[in-house]
Amino acid sequence: MRAVVCVAGGTELAELPDPRPAPDGVVVEVAACGLCGSDVHAVERGHTTEGQVLGHEFGGTVVEVGRDVDGWRVGQPVAVDPLGSCGSCRECRRGMPFRCAALPNLGINAPGGYAEYAAVPAAQLVALPDGVPAEWGAHAEPLAVATRAAALAGVGPGDAVLVLGVGTIGLNAVIALKAAGVDLVVGAGRSVTRRRAAALAGADVVIDTREVSLAEHVAATGRAFDAVLECSASPGTVTEAMAVLASGGTCVEVALSGEAAAVPLGPLVGAGLTLTGSCAFARADFTAAVAHVATGDPRVTGLISERVSLADVPAALVRLRTPVDLVRVLALPTT
Ligand SMILES: [Zn+2]
Ligand SMILES: [Zn+2]
Repeated sequence: MRAVVCVAGGTELAELPDPRPAPDGVVVEVAACGLCGSDVHAVERGHTTEGQVLGHEFGGTVVEVGRDVDGWRVGQPVAVDPLGSCGSCRECRRGMPFRCAALPNLGINAPGGYAEYAAVPAAQLVALPDGVPAEWGAHAEPLAVATRAAALAGVGPGDAVLVLGVGTIGLNAVIALKAAGVDLVVGAGRSVTRRRAAALAGADVVIDTREVSLAEHVAATGRAFDAVLECSASPGTVTEAMAVLASGGTCVEVALSGEAAAVPLGPLVGAGLTLTGSCAFARADFTAAVAHVATGDPRVTGLISERVSLADVPAALVRLRTPVDLVRVLALPTT
């Protein structure tokens, strides 16, 4: 089969043996796999090994079933939860399978979805209803990340929430917050294309942070935020975000950043603020995201700005380093 593998400093198309299912696993024909900024960072920072098949946001169709597998059939459309989980260690019991050391994670340290086929443990499959395009399975992973971050913000009807940075995760955060009933979702971003995408994703107000600072926006509207989802990883944004929170508000840091942020301890304590980190998701978030995707919400499917073949993935990952006008790119391995 064809797959995109890591090589020194980048990725390239390669021919690999077709995977076989483990006794407790299946083989999925990948219908679509989302290109993710974290793949770009993994390659750039050398956090991946040569020959690794990346791609952790994928869906497809079951084409082969392992001998000990019950309940899955050839032809079933599925979304793949890339995170392996033992289900019993301290981290798994606390809803943090991404910290579980026991099992490999697909597209991270086990073969992923930038390939025609992927071997997947049956325990990591979530069924899509029959008739739902298997391609939609690729939408579940980033929506699961956003669903968890929105839940950690603890917001709902009556609240105002700022989404800072409207890349793939920020855009999915807008969708997840509106689904949670948040009245006022403000998206803030720098790229024209992504700000337009934020409005299409359901943001009630979209601001350009190069033209108006967050503090100026709050001063002009008179409404501070009940929560901020910080999805930009831009230097200084945590400090800025905490300054526009209402009393008791929560700042959820979603973007992975190497930055040592300055946390304003005065407002943190005096105004009862919360600063929390949100990484990946638990299975419940992923299952909720699949249910949302399966409704055919056009705000989810509408995030795709480009579809590329496997052969075009290496070049598209390079373009993702400076995403500017890219919203969300899907690899379609069978094209
Ligand atoms: Zn991702
Ligand atoms: Zn575990």
